Amino acid sequence: MGRCRVCRAETAQNYTPESGWYSASCTECGTYKIDKQVMKMLEKGKVLNAPMMQKWIGREHNLDSNPFPAITLHTAVWAS
Ligand SMILES: [Zn+2]
Repeated sequence: MGRCRVCRAETAQNYTPESGWYSASCTECGTYKIDKQVMKMLEKGKVLNAPMMQKWIGREHNLDSNPFPAITLHTAVWAS
């Protein structure tokens, strides 16, 4: 357990620095994963825009039936 990187809720998650991928199964956001570059930004204090990311994750689940949409520098929406 730990804090969801998107909405900060207590969330089942898995992070292996070797693989570079963080994955989470959040009751608020659904399942998603985050790549190494975005994890670095988060460690530096950048914050994801939770409502926008949740909307995006939901849409990816519907479109692709992709169980773990990937949050990368291309898909991340940052809080200003
Ligand atoms: Zn969440």
